Amino acid sequence: MFNHLKLDSLTREEVTNIASEAMIVLPVGAIEQHGPHLPLCTDAVFAEEIALRSCAAVQDSFRAVVAPVLSYGNSHHHFPMPALSLTSEAMTIVLKDLLRSMVTTGFKHIAILNSHGGNDEAIRMATRDIARECQVNIAATSYWTVAWEALRNECQATQLGRVPGHAGGFETSLMLHLRPELVRLNSFPPHRHDEIPTEEMSRRMFIQRPNNSVGVNGISDDSRHASKEKGAEILPVIIREVARAFRQFMGK
Ligand SMILES: [Zn+2]
Repeated sequence: MFNHLKLDSLTREEVTNIASEAMIVLPVGAIEQHGPHLPLCTDAVFAEEIALRSCAAVQDSFRAVVAPVLSYGNSHHHFPMPALSLTSEAMTIVLKDLLRSMVTTGFKHIAILNSHGGNDEAIRMATRDIARECQVNIAATSYWTVAWEALRNECQATQLGRVPGHAGGFETSLMLHLRPELVRLNSFPPHRHDEIPTEEMSRRMFIQRPNNSVGVNGISDDSRHASKEKGAEILPVIIREVARAFRQFMGK
């Protein structure tokens, strides 16, 4: 499935033939703890799946290919809990090198699609610098940035918890839909009795407290409202909004 969309499934001739007209998407995730019930690959799964599905959705208008997901991200704020993390500096350097490689390969329209909050600044910095340095069009977004209004208004996604939050009701629903075999149904975190998260908390002030930046016990909110059905409802809305953003970027 999706093989025709994957850059690394193409030959060098096929890449050369499409590069100047196609859009290439770099999915960016993270490898970090996601509570007792979700796997470390959660954000990487989201980045790749959303990139593949939204590129499939725009094929009627223009060719779009997806680079292999950059699974590692900036996750130092999860330490000492399990995470394989790049520093902010390293992350920016890696992103810049991959963007430069795409330009050298011939791509003129490049989009970064991020699924992890800790990468949000790095994708913008790399985009700003390389677009100017290489004189190409580069777009960068985190999926919730383009889909947030639709998720709130059409799916009432904020009732699940923070959007996207971390290992809470929202991400758990998405994983139950995308990779149910990786969700530990018997290890859901205990229900929390703190306030039900509000919309304001989804857009809260940026605060980092050493060893406690992710929320209580590494989770932003609990999963009591998470469900496979809710995941199946919110994913198409994300895909539609990301595809819309890609069309806007390409002017098609
Ligand atoms: Zn996550």
